Amino acid sequence: MIKIAIDGPGGAGKSTLAKAVAAKMGIVYVDTGALYRTIGYYVRQHDVAPDDTEGVIACLDDIRIEVKYEDGKQNVYLNGENPGDKIRTPEMSMYASKVSAIPKVRAFLLDTQRDIAKKNSVIMDGRDIGTVILPDADLKIFLTASEECRAKRRYDELIARGQNVRFEDVLAEMNQRDTQDSTRDVAPTAAADDAILLDNTDMTFEQTVDKVIELANNCK
Ligand code: C5P
Repeated sequence: MIKIAIDGPGGAGKSTLAKAVAAKMGIVYVDTGALYRTIGYYVRQHDVAPDDTEGVIACLDDIRIEVKYEDGKQNVYLNGENPGDKIRTPEMSMYASKVSAIPKVRAFLLDTQRDIAKKNSVIMDGRDIGTVILPDADLKIFLTASEECRAKRRYDELIARGQNVRFEDVLAEMNQRDTQDSTRDVAPTAAADDAILLDNTDMTFEQTVDKVIELANNCK
């Protein structure tokens, strides 16, 4: 069994990278951002403001989250239903970022994440995987890239999904979210002391994948 933690700011390419490494190594990819997005989605559906801490905490009593792997893909079920791409909009990114700053929300999702890692070899991406969720991970990577490069990747990803967005808005939203995520009191985006810093601004996607696989093979 191997546990790989990938943390870093938005747009660094964590999820694309983790997905590719998981496929090549035959291990499970866990997208933890999808869990916070799903809570944000429920909160939005019930007209609760994402920074209304008490309101969000009250929602947790009515939320049941299940993570299923179907056809090699992670699906997060919310009270038995899969919201699919509805959790992938810029609005849901911001909701996820706000609700994820609430300690009770993080505690609510802790066991779900650790349970998957207990039962499987995983590559898990998020903000606090190496620091909080899997402090004993075999390999911890803090993935980053220049701000311009990260915003461009996020923009291309949203356009490819058919969303009508402007680059300036994507950049501003990304920076606001990164500031929120890295300055919050609980589990801020941070590199663990034993994480390897990987800046892939000038690396191709394939080079980044190969680098992570090389590092993973070295720690077996
Ligand atoms: O990675 P993704 O963009 O899907 O994450 C959405 C939001 O969820 C992040 O901006 C962050 O606030 C939150 N998140 C978190 N901890 C994680 C994963 C995501 O706080 N492990």
